[in-house]
Amino acid sequence: MEQYERIGVRNIMEEIVYEKMDKIVNSLECCTCEKCQADIAAYVLNHVAPRYVASEKGELFSKVQEMTQNNETEIVMKIVSAAEIIKGSPRHAR
Ligand SMILES: [Zn+2]
Repeated sequence: MEQYERIGVRNIMEEIVYEKMDKIVNSLECCTCEKCQADIAAYVLNHVAPRYVASEKGELFSKVQEMTQNNETEIVMKIVSAAEIIKGSPRHAR
């Protein structure tokens, strides 16, 4: 993990998915507990192509914004369908 931090390679899809989820989670009619949210994020991230970047923080931010604009619809659709699936088989305690 230390090496990962040192070389500064990040999958910016993670930032994008988390940010989008935050914004639309209340309209998903899905459980908002930590487990379900993590499951949704994992599902989406397994179904979009990763975008690894090696950048400084400032640069990272503009890349995230650019990627968000270009992929917003696809990501939102994937979050919505992930929420449907997780809702159907939640892993949290009932
Ligand atoms: Zn839950």
